[in-house]
Amino acid sequence: MFDICIVGSGPSAVISAQVFVEKGYKICLLDIGDECKYKIPFKHFNEQLSPEADFFYPPDNNQSSTQSGDAQITKAREHLITHVNSYLQIESSNFAAFQALASGGLSAAWGAACFTYNDTDLDKASIGQLRSHYEAVAKIIGISGPKRSSFCDIQAKQKPANIDHNGQSLLRQCQNTFVLEPSSMALLTEPLNGRTANPYFDMDFYSNFGDSIFRSDCLLKTLALKPNFTHIKPALVTSFEEAHDQVKVKYLDLASSTTGQVVAAQLIICAGAINSYRLVANSLKIFEVPNPILCNPYINIPTIHLPNLGKKGAYYRHSLSQVFGEFHDNSDITLQFYSYRSLLLSRLMAQTPMPAFFARLFWRALSESLVIVGAHFADDGKSPRSIQALQAAQTSLPALKIDFPHPSLSNVFRLIGNLLKLRCVPMGIVKTKMGASIHYAGTIPISYEGQYPIGMDEQGRVHHTKNVYVFDSSGWTYLPSRGLTFTIMANAHRLSEALQRRNS
Ligand SMILES: Cc1cc2nc3c(=O)[nH]c(=O)nc-3n(C[C@H](O)[C@H](O)[C@H](O)COP(=O)(O)OP(=O)(O)OC[C@H]3O[C@@H](n4cnc5c(N)ncnc54)[C@H](O)[C@@H]3O)c2cc1C
Repeated sequence: MFDICIVGSGPSAVISAQVFVEKGYKICLLDIGDECKYKIPFKHFNEQLSPEADFFYPPDNNQSSTQSGDAQITKAREHLITHVNSYLQIESSNFAAFQALASGGLSAAWGAACFTYNDTDLDKASIGQLRSHYEAVAKIIGISGPKRSSFCDIQAKQKPANIDHNGQSLLRQCQNTFVLEPSSMALLTEPLNGRTANPYFDMDFYSNFGDSIFRSDCLLKTLALKPNFTHIKPALVTSFEEAHDQVKVKYLDLASSTTGQVVAAQLIICAGAINSYRLVANSLKIFEVPNPILCNPYINIPTIHLPNLGKKGAYYRHSLSQVFGEFHDNSDITLQFYSYRSLLLSRLMAQTPMPAFFARLFWRALSESLVIVGAHFADDGKSPRSIQALQAAQTSLPALKIDFPHPSLSNVFRLIGNLLKLRCVPMGIVKTKMGASIHYAGTIPISYEGQYPIGMDEQGRVHHTKNVYVFDSSGWTYLPSRGLTFTIMANAHRLSEALQRRNS
């Protein structure tokens, strides 16, 4: 019997596991854990030649295999979604969820942008004080960025990453309307725990040389060396059952197609807000009753940054966000500015309505000045939306039905107008379906018992259970516009320490 069973290997799961393993708990972690099967050469993006260039394109079956975020799925990342369509079905006409069953969960592809929430937002989200937990997690994962920061206010930081030509030029523009600063990211600029600094090969959508970007599997590798840590995979957890102060956790072994069971004193579910809901609903047999869900509306705006038109850009660069931005007077929209040379261009070329040769010339001329502005909007949960589990299959998990019409967004025209002040000329607005922000929360809200069909208390314990907890973003009651993952990790750290204190 284990002290604690943890479901998932994403950011919340590995941080929680780390806290308990350090305290000597006997931990069992269950997940599918699909991994990349390709070995990608350690070379600069521009030096990758055929057949390696194959990695730069989406897998052949991409269109049918994922519902959102498919621009992020390069061939080298196809393992993220291998089992998703078979086991994590969603019925929806207006919500495009990105789900991953890879080792490290969604963090196997995340952009590593790290934000802290202010006290008001933490309060609205029903999350406790996190300051010391942000610092503790930063020491584990390694965050680089400016020491004084409006966006990621922590002490434990490595020096900022080099900023490319577009990032530098943006920071030189008039800043009367926007607060702009170099991005804070879980990207190493100095070695940490056997991981190395980012080589600026612009390969960050395809590989993670030296584990320079924190993806949860970096921590899994360290945990795997501990004698009190057991990792069972490929295991799809299908339900839990409580009896006599024990939790029985049932799973499907995808390698042998047999079922298995782990027994633990406590269960911590970290399957991500959508799939933690799925697992709890299946276990408590709560079907076809709607619960809430939170998700940041998201748009992206491809722009030409005029000062760099026709100029040669930085050769050595990382592929992640260069600059963070917010309006001085409104923090309900958070911006990330990318120079999107590597990933996007092959797609844009294919979609351009002109012969391939001219399309290539056209985009080459523009590519160094191409700045993609990603804008996330806060979600207060007030517009209509719902998530519900449909009746379960016998051995697997139920399909989910999600209804989430796009809420109307204010300030979009103000945003477009003010991008011009940064000398970014918008070429259009890509209004994505709800779900495409890949920021999910609030499916099992922190609430009093009976307020929702499925809810949890402030300690993360699921109502109507004795020893079952959810430590990802499922309990949140508000979703600020800033990227959520650093807060997910800090909150998992806080909840795990609190549970450990109560246990002793
Ligand atoms: C392309 C991309 C870019 C992103 N960029 C950023 C960013 O820059 N900043 C930011 O803050 N966030 C970003 N995100 C979002 C971020 O990745 C997620 O918020 C974060 O990973 C959520 O962590 P989690 O622990 O809640 O769950 P997840 O990462 O979703 O992990 C869930 C885990 O549970 C496992 N699981 C699920 N169901 C089961 C089951 N039944 N049985 C067994 N295992 C199960 C999965 O395999 C996975 O290991 C990005 C995401 C993507 C995909």
